[in-house]
Amino acid sequence: MTNNGFDILLTADRTLMSNYHSNEFLGFGTCAPSNFIPDVLYSYLFFPPLKTNKGLPSAAPYGLRKIEAQLLKEGFSVLTVSPQHLRKYIKTAKIVGIHTMDPFGFGPASTTLASVFKNEPFLARHFHSLVTSPVVREAKKNGVKVIVGGPGAWQFRYRPQLVEKKAIDCVVEGEAERVIGKIVRSILSGDELPPYYEIAARDAPQLEDIPDIVHPSVNGLVEIGRGCCRGCEFCNVTLRPLRWYSLDKILREITVNIECGKNRVICLHSEDVMLYGSQNAVPNDEKLLKLHELVMSKIQAISWSHSSLAAVASKPRLFSKISEIILQKQAWWGAEIGLETGSAELAKKIMPAKAFPFKPEEWPAVARQGLGVMHDNKLIPAATLIVGLPEETETDIIKTMELVDDVKDCRSLIVPLFFVPLGRLKNKDWFREAQVNKLHEQLMFQCAEHSLRWVDKLLDMSFMDKGYRVALKEFYKVFASIARRQIRHAEIAEFE
Ligand code: SF4
Repeated sequence: MTNNGFDILLTADRTLMSNYHSNEFLGFGTCAPSNFIPDVLYSYLFFPPLKTNKGLPSAAPYGLRKIEAQLLKEGFSVLTVSPQHLRKYIKTAKIVGIHTMDPFGFGPASTTLASVFKNEPFLARHFHSLVTSPVVREAKKNGVKVIVGGPGAWQFRYRPQLVEKKAIDCVVEGEAERVIGKIVRSILSGDELPPYYEIAARDAPQLEDIPDIVHPSVNGLVEIGRGCCRGCEFCNVTLRPLRWYSLDKILREITVNIECGKNRVICLHSEDVMLYGSQNAVPNDEKLLKLHELVMSKIQAISWSHSSLAAVASKPRLFSKISEIILQKQAWWGAEIGLETGSAELAKKIMPAKAFPFKPEEWPAVARQGLGVMHDNKLIPAATLIVGLPEETETDIIKTMELVDDVKDCRSLIVPLFFVPLGRLKNKDWFREAQVNKLHEQLMFQCAEHSLRWVDKLLDMSFMDKGYRVALKEFYKVFASIARRQIRHAEIAEFE
């Protein structure tokens, strides 16, 4: 801290500064635009603001906490502030760093929902309001530099206006631990900044370069590794090297969440928790069991950010053992999974290693098996499908519809997402609403019917505790039943 203030303020818009009522699935609600629920009520239901103390949030997005930790490690004076309280600390600031996931709503979930509701998603609206807020604009006039980073930084390549108008001075894309100090030093010395700073995969930090977070993360999210070895063509993560954290490092970050955040519910985060400690897409029994025994001995409940269907399908007995460890303390747990397509042909072309250790052409069977094992062991997946992949044919869509039909009895949400050009497919065309054909529509209705059929049961399982959350559950049920009715009407109108 200098002159009774901080040089660097870190923040994120209010859709990211939320714990989503301790239910990450509700975070999907930030991707929707305004709808039949009044905005104020919707915002409270899906992204209530985090508690603050003197303007400091009780938790912050994990990526922001990592940058905070790196800057503290390098000796900078830095503070993470709630977006509503920036004014309290802005006077001495020289830099405002903003974390973003989906700044323009170009992410797959947002583009899909925007095409249904024909409006800008909440997360894009709130990001824009933050960057153009009076407090940030005044600070910029006084010489403060604004840096933006996070998983959504790639979107500025398609929407450069905020950078061109100098509302944002530098967009940092990629894993920034090794470069953020350099960028900050340049700003503080008055050097010119490049408007875009893209960190190549070869400059990704090694394990020893990645600091531990020092303050709590939203919903106790703790990273257990980075990168992925499956190499799907449509994914940005494909390009990053695979690294797994040691158990000690994971436990240290869990301790930060327990001691500073009073958070005894932890979300283990990696692109595939089932591959913890493995270098080759085959689960490592010993490391996975040890991880879960150790973590569950420290906390009350757990969730996973992501898991692959193939890893689960390849080791159902190991998965049951992990489930036994987890279910000693909770009734179920959740994870996001990539179902992507039901077509073996398409799987072979765009994600040949997704089914590994099975053959790519076995993907639909692997997906059925994986979802069945998850159902039996009480992991509830939020499964995403990609609509409009390059080279997708009508037969591919029909195969996906058959898969969705086959897994109708598996407790899950299935969310169809429009193809967004990322990873090795970044030069392909976006999938637009105008390209949606009758089969796509049928598939999307089918997924909505599937998810809404399960949603009441999932709400009962998610909100088993008492208090205000029981009242909330009833709100979500009403919301689901209105959505169900609207989708049925739309379906009838479409196919009459
Ligand atoms: S889509 Fe998932 S499995 Fe495929 S490369 Fe990306 S993170 Fe890995």
